[in-house]
Amino acid sequence: MSELDRYAVLGQPISHSKSPRIHQLFAEQTGENLQYNAIEVPAEQFTDLVTSFFANGGKGLNCTVPLKELAWAYAEFKTERAQLAKAVNTLVLQKDGSVLGDNTDGIGLVTDLKHNHGIVLSGKRILILGAGGASRGIISPLLAEEPENIVIANRTLTKAQQLVTEFTEKGNIGACGFEDLSTQSFDLIINATSSSLTEELPPLSDDLLSKQGSCYDLAYSNKATVFVRWGLEHKALKSLDGLGMLVEQAAEAFFIWRGVRPQTAAIIDLLNAERH
Ligand code: NDP
Repeated sequence: MSELDRYAVLGQPISHSKSPRIHQLFAEQTGENLQYNAIEVPAEQFTDLVTSFFANGGKGLNCTVPLKELAWAYAEFKTERAQLAKAVNTLVLQKDGSVLGDNTDGIGLVTDLKHNHGIVLSGKRILILGAGGASRGIISPLLAEEPENIVIANRTLTKAQQLVTEFTEKGNIGACGFEDLSTQSFDLIINATSSSLTEELPPLSDDLLSKQGSCYDLAYSNKATVFVRWGLEHKALKSLDGLGMLVEQAAEAFFIWRGVRPQTAAIIDLLNAERH
């Protein structure tokens, strides 16, 4: 019997990652024969490990915190969305032996919002809280949906302004500090800060969310995150966390590697059931 095609997710820490389970479920569902492991890698060992993984027959890698920028630098070729994001979460060994980098986070978010939850993006006012790596990955796929505008608010204003400079040609985008948000309201508020992980919230005014607006936290947890709770308290039509995005970005990576698109709904339902 021939050896299984090998894939892995790299990160530090990585033991908590749901990616091996998600890809195993995709493989079972689609009948693809593959092996997908989680490998803990300190940043300083990243390049050697990736080179040896591909040299020894590995087919593809996912990269997560804190390795997405290193993966971007490693990839000889990049998709346009990865090039813009300056971060890569999916590496694929191509037939000619070169390594292509892609970023599936943004398309994962857009698919979850639009297709899984029926949230309209076109013509809407979108607020992104945070200007770190995750924000960078979601801006161009969101702008491609032609919202009225996107505002990026960040604790460190210069980082939000830098993103505006980089993405301004892709659509209507602006930056501000949290204190400048008090007179504005939005149809969709996306929390891309890492503050949910420490149960903290940026200062958000009570009128920030439009009537019938929705909230989306990129972070996910077994119980409602502090931002998901904020959305519910402020009568969001939908207040969601990032589990669906996680599954959808994985499905996109699986498609890039295997050419087969998994059906994600049943898998999201299963993972949701497991966390209650
Ligand atoms: P980064 O470390 O790159 O950026 C963190 C951001 O959070 C910065 O803008 C930082 O502001 C801000 N921040 C941190 N603490 C606070 C605070 N107490 N108050 C206000 N702002 C704060 O992280 P990432 O962008 O990589 O990740 C952000 C989140 O997205 C994480 O929760 C991550 O798990 C999630 N994520 C989810 C994915 C999914 O598939 N569901 C995929 C990718 C990410 P400043 O610039 O001022 O420091």
